[in-house]
Amino acid sequence: LPRGQVVLEARAVTRRFGGLVANNAMDLTVHAGEILALIGPNGAGKSTMFNQLSGVDTPTSGQVLFQGAPITGRGSRAIARLGLSRSFQHVRLLPEMSVLENVAIGAHLRGRRGVLASAWRLDRAEEARLMAEAAHQVRRVGLEAHMFDDAGSLALGQQRTLEIARALASDPSLLLLDEPAAGLRLQEKVALAELLRKLRDEGMAILLVEHDMDFVMGLVDRVVVMDFGQKIAEGLPDEVQKNPAVLEAYLGG
Ligand code: ADP
Ligand code: MG
Repeated sequence: LPRGQVVLEARAVTRRFGGLVANNAMDLTVHAGEILALIGPNGAGKSTMFNQLSGVDTPTSGQVLFQGAPITGRGSRAIARLGLSRSFQHVRLLPEMSVLENVAIGAHLRGRRGVLASAWRLDRAEEARLMAEAAHQVRRVGLEAHMFDDAGSLALGQQRTLEIARALASDPSLLLLDEPAAGLRLQEKVALAELLRKLRDEGMAILLVEHDMDFVMGLVDRVVVMDFGQKIAEGLPDEVQKNPAVLEAYLGG
């Protein structure tokens, strides 16, 4: 997509759980070619928001638009096929399958080309196409030296990178990443940040939830801060870090 184009828009998204308002009239916009961080203290409503955006859950009220089309209430698979790809907080790889196979399975299961209906009965041409696409994504994220290694044998940073390759296999225009830097060593974080910048510069829209503030502030273009289900600040990393409401939310506990 052309850089700057709106990819995802949340309008007044509200999610109640009984008396608790986990997301309260949240507005959010993500553009092609930007990395946006959604941050906030524990319990602020970040994961709930991710669930509303990716169709894992349905808002009590409000609307979500993906590339201009309403997707509120559509299932997560349908939304994934439109081009919204999500990684989860905990690694969900098949440890005894190779790096290449893990990505190929992602391409198969989340493909936009209707291969889902054929389940596992792929013809030779289709299988070759899937494998070529998967190999392309493995190279794109820099894991080509591990193409045929078991996913379970990789270091955590490489497993996270592999998850991103798998998310890329469905040719998304938006990546939602839930705590991609959690548990990574410094060198792994540096490599991850480099990969995300590369994808952004290719025009990908990236929305991430992340607790590691050094990682966030050095990487992202824009930050949205949540507390008690609401947006309390939005802006450039430097601005947001100095915002009194943000300092209060983090320190005032
Ligand atoms: P964060 O990801 O920012 O830490 P969450 O979105 O997980 O916050 O949670 C926001 C609030 O909503 C919390 O108070 C949490 O307990 C509550 N919550 C989240 N999911 C559910 C649910 N399925 N049922 C009831 N309450 C929930
Ligand atoms: Mg969470």
